[in-house]
Amino acid sequence: MIIDTHIHSTYSPDSSSSVAEIVKYSRKIGLDAIAIADHDTMKGSMEAKDRFKGLKDFVIIPAMEISTNKGHIVALGIKEEISPGLDPKETVELIRDQGGIAVAAHPFVRYREGLFSRISSLDVDALETLNSRYIFGYSNWRARKMAEETKIPQLGASDAHFLGAIGSCVTELEADFDVESILEVILSGKTNVFGDRTPLPLIIKEVINKKIKKV
Ligand SMILES: [Zn+2]
Ligand SMILES: [Zn+2]
Repeated sequence: MIIDTHIHSTYSPDSSSSVAEIVKYSRKIGLDAIAIADHDTMKGSMEAKDRFKGLKDFVIIPAMEISTNKGHIVALGIKEEISPGLDPKETVELIRDQGGIAVAAHPFVRYREGLFSRISSLDVDALETLNSRYIFGYSNWRARKMAEETKIPQLGASDAHFLGAIGSCVTELEADFDVESILEVILSGKTNVFGDRTPLPLIIKEVINKKIKKV
């Protein structure tokens, strides 16, 4: 299964894609699951769940991207919104209290949005080690290095702010088509991340599926 766990909809001030467009486009390019993770709101994620419930072959993971006072954390699998502006440690605890998992988004991006050096002392469930917005430069590389050293599960995600960017960085994993199973597999660390700036074409999915079958 191929998933993109960080997509912004029009509920984020800086994105141009509507929820319906995101779901339709994601299915078209062959993604199996997505998380609409808007800045400090679950509205996009909830709208997607409401409008597209009942899909058997596509999973919508409830999510939001929380601006903590020291950087961005993507919460996956939460039930209720979590306030922005809290300490990252407290934010991670609130996410786990709801049964969700905490992902350090683009952790080494050198602006206020990245958790940066704090990440080494912070207990998160996964790191975005491939974020398509920061494909150049060293931030993905550093995140990957840290994840490998500390054995933190890795995720690839587009952080798409427009339709065409969805699926440009993704995570490949083997899970059932439900949120719980996907989160469990992420926590186990059995993920492959891949992608670049170009959106995922269907052909890549076919190549990957063949590769999975061979192993
Ligand atoms: Zn962010
Ligand atoms: Zn983002």
